[in-house]
Amino acid sequence: MGTFNTLIAVVDCVNCNKPFTQEIQFKYATVWQYLYNVGDKLTRTNNYYDIGKPGTKVKACGISADNICPNCDFINEEDFDLFIENDVIIGVNYAEDLSIYFDTEGDFVEYE
Ligand SMILES: [Zn+2]
Repeated sequence: MGTFNTLIAVVDCVNCNKPFTQEIQFKYATVWQYLYNVGDKLTRTNNYYDIGKPGTKVKACGISADNICPNCDFINEEDFDLFIENDVIIGVNYAEDLSIYFDTEGDFVEYE
């Protein structure tokens, strides 16, 4: 288990549709236990722990640490896509297709 960053995001439960806060771990930009919200610019220190590069549009693979809905106890999907443009987190959603990450090192893919 290496280090990771965490996105704190409000996501709707797919069962009861009520929003709840999830902590979603991901590895992109400088990976060093940073906490982020949607809209934040990611930190880069240009060292060994930097993943990807600025100026690109990527989906990063995220895994939720608390995907159980506090309202109805439904176990939601734990996998997420984080949408990142030029190192700014612009959105997050339940992962559409995890296989897109298989061809790379698994942390992120560029997309148009
Ligand atoms: Zn629920």
